[in-house]
Amino acid sequence: MAARFPVVFTAHGNPMNALPGTPFAGFLRAWSASRPTPRSILCVSAHWERRGLAVTSTESPRTVHDFWGFPEELYRLDYRAPGSPALAARVRNLLSAAGLGADADPERGLDHGAWAPLRHLYPGAEVPVVQVSLPVGEPLSLLLEVGRALAPLREEEVLILGSGNLVHNLRTADLERREAPVPAWARSFDQWVRDRLETWDLAPLCDPWEASPDGSRAHPTLEHYAPLLVVCGASGACPSLRFPNETFEHGTVSMRCVQME
Ligand code: ZN
Repeated sequence: MAARFPVVFTAHGNPMNALPGTPFAGFLRAWSASRPTPRSILCVSAHWERRGLAVTSTESPRTVHDFWGFPEELYRLDYRAPGSPALAARVRNLLSAAGLGADADPERGLDHGAWAPLRHLYPGAEVPVVQVSLPVGEPLSLLLEVGRALAPLREEEVLILGSGNLVHNLRTADLERREAPVPAWARSFDQWVRDRLETWDLAPLCDPWEASPDGSRAHPTLEHYAPLLVVCGASGACPSLRFPNETFEHGTVSMRCVQME
């Protein structure tokens, strides 16, 4: 049996991080170089929410530029990793076996929550990428179930990759300044997530608005937080944890990344 692949939560933050030369881009390149290259990647991103679960099933996913008001050069970026209809079918089978139906979506491309970090993690775009959606209106605990159902992929050299941000409040963010000061509540929530992960205390992580005094300020909406739960579900019980990046950008966007083995 092949070794179990680590599961990973990556931050993505400002779409400008898709460009080369940012500190975070440099970090991502070094991080992927420290791990074996996967056979394929299954990504759950903050930027694909829909009713119910779905899986991208095209052989050649488009690069979706799902952001507005950024410099032209960002819209010219293309990430032409292949898709994998075979992995999409495998994912749907695993979800179905767990009682979780998922549609195949042959039209959907890769959103920037996926391709912006992947451009730096796997710049050759040679590793096939499939995305699974975030189902809207469902409890976060369902995402733990999704992760648990997908865990066998770790033994098939598939990298399960969540992409979001563990603090993500754009109303309070200073978008002009990457190095803006970080308010105490933002640090506090980021640390709260780290502490819950280190004690593997998943119930509060499934209810951050209730369980943390800073939860609703850290996440006015939960889509950037939610991919963490898929990663937790896929990791198994009490994984060994690494936090290879713990920076903030724009004051209230946590760039914390998590690797679980
Ligand atoms: Zn985002």
